[in-house]
Amino acid sequence: MGFLQGKRALITGIASQRSIANGIAEAMRREGAELAFTYQSDKLKSRVEDAAAEYGSNIVIPLDVAEDAQIEACFAELGKHWDGLDILVHSIGFAPREAIEGGYLDGLTRENFRIAHDISAYSLSALAKAARPMMSGRNGSILTLTYLGAERALANYNVMGVAKAALEASVRYLALNLGPEGTRVNAISAGPIKTLAAAGIANFRKMLGHVESYAPMRRSVTIEDVGNVAAFLCSDLAAGVTGEITYVDAGYNILGMTGVGDEH
Ligand code: NAD
Repeated sequence: MGFLQGKRALITGIASQRSIANGIAEAMRREGAELAFTYQSDKLKSRVEDAAAEYGSNIVIPLDVAEDAQIEACFAELGKHWDGLDILVHSIGFAPREAIEGGYLDGLTRENFRIAHDISAYSLSALAKAARPMMSGRNGSILTLTYLGAERALANYNVMGVAKAALEASVRYLALNLGPEGTRVNAISAGPIKTLAAAGIANFRKMLGHVESYAPMRRSVTIEDVGNVAAFLCSDLAAGVTGEITYVDAGYNILGMTGVGDEH
C-alpha cells in the first residue's frame, strides 16, 4: 500500500509531459493518491485530459489563476466530486519573456513586475484561501515550486527571482496561518529542468550545463526526483514539516563558488 493511500490531491500546472507537475502526479498516483487536475487554457485542455486519464482520473477543471472567478469556480466544481481535499499542488509560474532576459532593469516595467508576482506568487495564497474550506481539519498539505533565484541573484532570472522570494515568504505566512487547522505548507526548490516554462529563460541550456558540471552530484535533477520528494512532503510521513523550502537540486545550493578548482 502506498503512503498516500486515501489522499485526494489537486494538481495544477501540467502543460506537457515534461512539466514538474507531471512528475509529481506520477509519484503521488504511484503512492495511492486519487488525483484531480486543472488546465490553464483551452489550448492545454486535451493534453491535461490525456494526462488525467493516464493517472486514472476524469476530474479536469479549467483554472487561469489570473481570474478570481475561475479560482472560485474551480473549487466549486471540485466540491461536486469530492467532499474534501488533502493535497494542493501549486506548480504555476509565469513572467513576460522580455523580463527574463538581459539585465534586471532592462525588461522591468510596472506591468511585468505585476504579472510575475500575480501569477507566480499571489496565486499560491489565492488558491490556499479558496481551498481552505475543503482542506481544513484533514492533515492536509499544500506544496509549491520555487527556485534558487529567490535568494541569490542569478543572471536572466530577474523579476521571477523577486516573485519567487515573495512566494517563499508566502509559504511561511501560510504555514503559520493554516497550521492550527492541520494544514502544512511547503515548497520544493528544484534545480533547473528543461520544461516549457524554463525554455522562456534566456541561456537556460547554459544554466543546465553549469549545474551538471558543478553540482555535488554532477547531474541535473529530473521531474521524477522532484515528484518523489513532493509525494513525501505531502504525506503523513512529513507530518512534522511545515513552512520549509526543501532543495531538490543535486546539492547545487550548498556551493559557495564554482569553477575555480577541481571541486572535489
Ligand atoms: P511548465 O511550463 O511545464 O509549467 C508551468 C505551468 O504554469 C504550466 O502548466 C502553465 O499552464 C501554468 N501557468 C502559467 N500561467 C498560468 C495561469 N495564469 N493560470 C494557471 N496556470 C498557469 O514548467 P515547470 O518548469 O514544470 O514549472 C512549474 C513550476 O516549477 C513553476 O512555478 C516554475 O517556476 C517552477 N520551477 C521550475 C524549474 C525548472 O527549471 N523547470 C525550477 C524550479 C522551479
